[in-house]
Formats: sequence, structure tokens, C-alpha cells
Amino acid sequence: MAKIYEDELLNILSFSLGNYSPSHSQEHAGWYAFNCPACAQEQAGIPDNKYNLNVSFQNNYYHCWKCKEYSNMKGSIKNLFYKFSSKKNQNKIVDLLKYLGVKEDEKEKQIETPNLTLPLEFKKLTLNSRNNAEHKNYYNYVLNRGLTDKEIERYDIGFCSEGKYKGRIVVPSYDKEGNLNYYIARSIYKDVKPTYLAPSLKKDFVFNERYINWDSTIYLVEGIFDHFAIYNSIPLLGKQISENLLKKLLHNTLPFSDVKIVTVYDNDVNVIEKRKQMTKLATFFGESRIKEINLTDVKDFSDAFQLGGYSKITEIVKNSFNNE
Ligand SMILES: [Zn+2]
Repeated sequence: MAKIYEDELLNILSFSLGNYSPSHSQEHAGWYAFNCPACAQEQAGIPDNKYNLNVSFQNNYYHCWKCKEYSNMKGSIKNLFYKFSSKKNQNKIVDLLKYLGVKEDEKEKQIETPNLTLPLEFKKLTLNSRNNAEHKNYYNYVLNRGLTDKEIERYDIGFCSEGKYKGRIVVPSYDKEGNLNYYIARSIYKDVKPTYLAPSLKKDFVFNERYINWDSTIYLVEGIFDHFAIYNSIPLLGKQISENLLKKLLHNTLPFSDVKIVTVYDNDVNVIEKRKQMTKLATFFGESRIKEINLTDVKDFSDAFQLGGYSKITEIVKNSFNNE
């Protein structure tokens, strides 16, 4: 009986994912293989015919062998249908999954939620921080960098006055579901070294992805304070544009879209290094979709923000787009 429901669900999927084939190996009984649409996007939408996208209703799980680490092509069956079936089928899908006995998204939660928490000593910066002799140093540091209570709130900025991260403001990063996936602790005192401290994790995420709108111009900036200065920016946490980030940009912006990727390097960046990164971008996106903002009278966006807030940033962006 269950086979009927499974076939019906597979038909719905193949409407958007194309043909599928059941796994013939004993070990993978009950798995079905489709061509992965995310992998296809890497070659202008042409399926690679490798059938790397594997789906199992019994395990309530799907993943693409090839690209799951950077494309989010993994998760629960419900998530798969959410991504690849039309809205009008939703009620039918929910019923079919229920008949099949596919459970709720427990497995997905296990996989997607990173096991990371803020340092125990983390305190949120608030207006009250100003009333404490030591806490106000953190507050003032942030204000001196041009931020206001608005940014403190939006970016959930806090600090540690004890523990491993003592003497640092702490900036959390959240994924698109709002789960913590990283944080950076920046020293506010000259004698607290190194300047930046962060958990040693594989940096295969987009910092504060929850704020990224993939359908509009995306700014790649160097540091977190540059990130605060302009909306829709991704801090590289350095100068390198990682393979992972390139792939995320490629998968998340619509294929054939004209969404621009704009780099904003500090004005003291090594020219050769910058060329190298721009060439990488051009290889993925083509010259027409990439652009660079060259800073002249300020060191970086953080500097500009400190000088004149959002209006200074807008001025720089406008001038740089007009000068083409
Ligand atoms: Zn794939």
C-alpha cells in the first residue's frame, strides 16, 4: 500500500527534478536518485546526469553527495518538497507523507542546527551598560566606531568582561533560520591580543546569512565593522573569497539574474591579491555581474561610517556607480 503513496510523491518530485531511478544496491534499498538541480546550476542549468541527489522516505532524508556541504542540498523530506514542489500540491503532500508515516523534521534539526553557543560570560550591550564603570568601555568602543543603539540591537552585539573573551566585544553570526553559527570577539584594549578571537570552526557559512537578500546587490567587505556599515554585505573576515562563498553566491542568486556582486576592499589592500580575488569572481559570474568599489579618501567602509554614517556610505557607493 505504502508503495502507492511513495510513487505519488516521487511523481510530484520528478515534475521539477526530472527522471529518477531507484537504487539497485542492497545497502541503499529504498533510496531514489535524481539529478541535482544545484549541481546543474554550476553549469548553466544543464544536468550532469550523475544522479547525485539521493532521497529516502524511510530515513526522512535527502542529500546531494557532491554539493551538500555548500549548497544546503540536504535535509528532511518535508524540506525537499518545500523547495521543489508547487504550493498548490502542499496539502496533498502533507497527507501523503502522513500516510507514509514520515515523521516530523527531527532529523533535520539535528543536521542543520550547529552545536554552538555564545560564551558563558556573554552579556548583551544595553543602555544599562553605560552605568557600569567597566561595561561602559565596551559601549563607548562601539559608539566610537560609529554604531548606534540601532545597530547594537540589529546585530545582537555584546561583550565579555570575564573569561576567555575578556576585554572584547562579541558579534554573533546567525544562519538563515536564526541559529548561531559563529561569533567574533574583537579586543577593545591595546593590551588584549590578538585583536580578533573566534571559535575554531570550518568557515563554511555566510556570516549573518539571515540578513542577506540574494535578489539584490551583494557587497563583499573585509571585516565585521565594514559589514555594519552597509546592508546586504558579507564580511570575508579577511581578503580571500573562499570557494565555499563563491558557490553559495552562485547557488543562492538566481541563475541568469543580473544581481551584482560588489567588492569593497580596504584601500591598502595588496593590488595583486585583489586582482587574484576579482579574477576568481569573474570566472564564476562573468565581468558584467561583478564590480569593485575603490576607496580613496577613507581606509575602509568602517572608517567612512565612523565619519558620516549611512549617508557617507551611500555617497561613496553612488559616486562609484556613476563613474562608470
Ligand atoms: Zn548537488
